Amino acid sequence: MTTMTTPSGLHAEALRSFWPGGTGPQNYVDGAWTTAAVYAETFDPSTGNTFAVVPETTKDEVDAAVRAAARAQPAWAGLTMSQRAEHLSALKAVLDAKGEELALLEAIDSGNPLPSTRRDVGLALRYLTEWPGLALSATGRFTRAHADGISLISAEPYGVVGKIIAYNHPMLFAIAGMIYPLMAGNTMVIKTSTQTPVATLALGEVIDGVLPPGVVNIVSGGADAGDALVTHPQVKRLAFTGSEATALAIQKRLSVSGMVKHFSAELGGKNPFIVFADADVSAAVDAAFAGLSFHISAGQSCQSTARILVHESIISEVEAGLATAMRRLTLGPAYEDATEMGPVVSREHARRIEEFIRGGIDEGARLVVGGGTLKSGGYFIEPTLFSDVTPSMTIAREEIFGPVATLMPFATEDEAIRLANDTRYGLSAAVWTNDLDRALRVSAQVQAGYVWVNDANRHYPGSPFGGMRASGIGREETVDELFGYTESKSVNIRVRSA
Ligand code: NAD
Repeated sequence: MTTMTTPSGLHAEALRSFWPGGTGPQNYVDGAWTTAAVYAETFDPSTGNTFAVVPETTKDEVDAAVRAAARAQPAWAGLTMSQRAEHLSALKAVLDAKGEELALLEAIDSGNPLPSTRRDVGLALRYLTEWPGLALSATGRFTRAHADGISLISAEPYGVVGKIIAYNHPMLFAIAGMIYPLMAGNTMVIKTSTQTPVATLALGEVIDGVLPPGVVNIVSGGADAGDALVTHPQVKRLAFTGSEATALAIQKRLSVSGMVKHFSAELGGKNPFIVFADADVSAAVDAAFAGLSFHISAGQSCQSTARILVHESIISEVEAGLATAMRRLTLGPAYEDATEMGPVVSREHARRIEEFIRGGIDEGARLVVGGGTLKSGGYFIEPTLFSDVTPSMTIAREEIFGPVATLMPFATEDEAIRLANDTRYGLSAAVWTNDLDRALRVSAQVQAGYVWVNDANRHYPGSPFGGMRASGIGREETVDELFGYTESKSVNIRVRSA
């Protein structure tokens, strides 16, 4: 792109392509942009400057969005699956036409480089193409339970789904996250991420006139807006993507409010990347580097395999390869052509990562690359690699969610498995070996919902994504997700004999 103009000129131009009247971002409720009582600033992490002012949605405003979704739901559920799929298919053309503008908004707001946000638009288009068709299989079941009795079992929508989104790929999460709930006959209120709301709000423009009013409503805000959605009596199904701490806070809140709700959670990870001595080391280094997602989101990825466990005989080679790749990365503003890695999302998060780095040094890990920040207004952390990391160190235990990787040696297969599982999380894992038996043994024993063998980072269509242990509840991206947005209803019929 595109820095023909100043960042502030670029900001204004990017916002005007969705809100031409100069109003700036608004909530999208009941088929219209709606003004809010309170607004809050959102920042461009590449400069630290204000990017936009967005609604800090109040409880009453969340209530209005839920009521709009509830009004729209019976008619939406009354459509056939094919009709719902046609609506979603129609979104593709608008998303495609607006894709470059959305990618720019997302790059400014999140700090993810433009190639990464363009990739998110591409993924969203692919999911809109592939997933609605898969949902057509959700036709219910029939059983003959008794000689004189049958059951008809249907998959019923919950009604209104409340979706709460994390900050790292918010627009993609919003689009991907609406496909199965809508196909199942639900309507939705989506709450954007606190830090990165702008491109998600702009999806109002994509939806407008394509989905009936009220079917998808989008509001911004932080914990209070999220809480209003969580505790709204008309929201029976909650879908959450974010941190373990917030998931626990939501579960506690539901419990003390006396509310029983269906709740799915896509949470964090401390994901192992295991390299055995017989692996193709050069390919493993390339994959380990790709698995860090430094170039996609400065390492702010739930599936980032940043805990790299390497057989002691090849760890120097892997360390040298990763160090070279990290030193070559060009850091810069998300919207500049030369940028290969952008900033992290906020000043607070940058400070948190700096604390982890200081802690790693204090606890005795060896800093191989990086560890510093860039002298600029933006929130830039250098790609950072620690070696000689031991299992008790904080950097080996906590999700850092930034451009920091740790290298740890192991001697035996048993030790590799023990180290891999020495975490409360269980989202993803990668196993690198040319021994098929070992690959199958280790992948069976690693406690993770999504395991790659001789690969990393890629999602395989048809494979459900989600975490074990503290990494979550539920699975996404397949019909598992579709059925997660339905509850079964059995109609049991006694058949009288003639
Ligand atoms: P977060 O938990 O801070 O916030 C997530 C969302 O919850 C935001 O929209 C926020 O406004 C909302 N929220 C905060 N407090 C709330 C409350 N009390 N009630 C209701 N809503 C509330 O997470 P984050 O910093 O945005 O995202 C980073 C985390 O998300 C990391 O742990 C990462 O691993 C995880 N993540 C997981 C996946 C996955 O698919 N497993 C994907 C992306 C991110």
